[in-house]
Amino acid sequence: MIGLISATAAGAAARDRLAAAWPDRTRVYQGPVGDAVRAAFAQCEQLVCFLATGAVVRLVAPLLSGKTADPGVVCVDEGGRFAVSLVGGHAGGANELAREVGELLGTEPVVTTATDAADLPGLDTLGLPVQGDVAGVSRALLDGEAVALRAEVTWPLPPLPVTADGSYTIRLTDRLVEAAEREVVLRPPSLVVGVGASKGAPVEEVLGLIEDVLREAGLSSASVAELATVDAKAGEPGLVEAARQLGVPLVAYSAGELAAVDVPNPSDAPLAAVGTPSVAEAAALVRGGELLVPKRKSAASPAMATCAVVRRPGRGRLAVVGLGPGARDLLTPRAKAELRRASVLVGLDQYVDQIRDLLRPGTRILESGLGAEEERARTAVEEARKGRAVALIGSGDAGVYAMASPALAEASDDIDVVGVPGVTAALAAGAILGAPLGHDHVSISLSDLHTPWEVIERRVRAAAEADLVVTFYNPRSRGRDWQLPKALDILAGHRAPTTPVGVVRNASRPDESARVTTLTALDPATVDMMTVVTVGNTATREIAGRMVTPRGYRWQEEP
Ligand code: SAH
Repeated sequence: MIGLISATAAGAAARDRLAAAWPDRTRVYQGPVGDAVRAAFAQCEQLVCFLATGAVVRLVAPLLSGKTADPGVVCVDEGGRFAVSLVGGHAGGANELAREVGELLGTEPVVTTATDAADLPGLDTLGLPVQGDVAGVSRALLDGEAVALRAEVTWPLPPLPVTADGSYTIRLTDRLVEAAEREVVLRPPSLVVGVGASKGAPVEEVLGLIEDVLREAGLSSASVAELATVDAKAGEPGLVEAARQLGVPLVAYSAGELAAVDVPNPSDAPLAAVGTPSVAEAAALVRGGELLVPKRKSAASPAMATCAVVRRPGRGRLAVVGLGPGARDLLTPRAKAELRRASVLVGLDQYVDQIRDLLRPGTRILESGLGAEEERARTAVEEARKGRAVALIGSGDAGVYAMASPALAEASDDIDVVGVPGVTAALAAGAILGAPLGHDHVSISLSDLHTPWEVIERRVRAAAEADLVVTFYNPRSRGRDWQLPKALDILAGHRAPTTPVGVVRNASRPDESARVTTLTALDPATVDMMTVVTVGNTATREIAGRMVTPRGYRWQEEP
């Protein structure tokens, strides 16, 4: 029971909303506040006090006896802004209660327990089927008790504070096992069931065969990732329905692809019917893996279904994540989620610093200095190939003059790759300058470190001739100072001296600066490697101090 205590009219109104939402869980304590708190403390497992924390501290202090015995106490302030978990955060459930109250009343939960603030992923939020003592093992993780990870298959888990031994266990397995005491069993989607069926094979026969085969092999149907078959059977109702009932996709391969797979039990019948000597085994094996159950026929007579089971190799996950130009609110929620999803983070030290506070405890950070690009790319891919969840980070967009291409040039198709776009410098600068990119535009890097200057110059000329708005990345560094003047000179051959030029330094960072000048007035000495330079086209104007490139010749006619 949750005891509710309030003193003021505002408190009573919030209290009544809780009482109305949880009629069976709550009990309102009226009367003098001191008596009410003491009575509720003695009679309830939890208290929500619509009182100042100071008042509650004074009232409950003499009543406290110990972590395991005390009720959980949550305080909600008079303004209804915060729900403070005051006492009994874990054992008393006050942290959870503060969150629940927050959802109902719109109050911000205030949780100060170290492990909760450290923000561990919930075992039931990993996207994997889970069985066993989820509450017990989660609490052990939160309380910093030793929790061992027993991974029987490779799977890219998020960071978890696990140890080699422990009285609690997280078991990652596709085997048909019951969770032991103090154990959670996580089911990775590691099994592929290859299926074949004669025309009109009933779903009961297909599903019955799959279930029998899995059970007899000691495998869990919760780990089935997909059913696989040959193209010609992709629409076979028994297979389609079996996949639907298992909640997995039915994936189909061409007969040619399947015929090329080496299988232990080829036969003539499917060769004649669909053009491959094996359907079930070949479809299960076509993406690689270990054949756990060779082809089996259903027991029906005549048998209309076959199946085979493969454990596919664990696939690591490489997320290539753009962090945006700098400001935290220009980091996308998806990027944030990927950073917290990864157990290994690879990046340039200064970018790691930008997001270090977002990482979950246990995240392995592999940071390196400027220049070590190839090595970072290789490291990220190697870690992913070990089956881990890796995030490779870059500022702006990680695909723009950044890590995505060197990494993907290294990557083989045995890992999953997820790209998360970020706000690249040209866009961040554009938004600050006004609307310079309103018509066709290009980005050109002036760094001749990886690209010969002749190539860069040819592209600048082409952009000049094509009247494209140009954003220069890497415009000027200490050792590279003549390239920007040269590039501006080329553009000036095709554009008026008064063409607006935007110079943005440290876009969206604390020391951001920006100005709009012109092709001839720009002083290259004011430009450095923290800067992008955007040169307008022949139609770009400075309007009220902002740089505006019309969308087209007819832009003024638009409403
Ligand atoms: N991947 C990055 C670009 C890396 S190249 C992106 O998408 O933005 C590095 C160059 O980008 C710098 O020399 C500078 O020209 C530009 N740059 C990156 N961040 C910037 C920022 N916040 N403000 C201005 N220019 C920036």
